[in-house]
Amino acid sequence: MNPEASDIPHCPHCFKRLAKMSVPPDGGYDSEFLYVCFNDDCPYYIQGWDWMFRQYYVRASYRYRLNPLTGGEGPIAVWSPAAMKDRILLD
Ligand SMILES: [Zn+2]
Repeated sequence: MNPEASDIPHCPHCFKRLAKMSVPPDGGYDSEFLYVCFNDDCPYYIQGWDWMFRQYYVRASYRYRLNPLTGGEGPIAVWSPAAMKDRILLD
């Protein structure tokens, strides 16, 4: 068993393990990385497309995001299914 892997929290919406994502330089977070749900079948993300279009008439969505330093959680906006997947940290 890998103790580090078991530390990674799960998405409260789809219950998959969150991925570590490096923070964009202008992201405005204190932490070097965030936990983000990159599951394309996550209901939070799927409903986000609809919500963003109804609210803002934009083709965008958001994924569930957890700040490991503060424990703060909320949405992080994405503009395509592939957006920010190049920032996923594999360790
Ligand atoms: Zn999820």
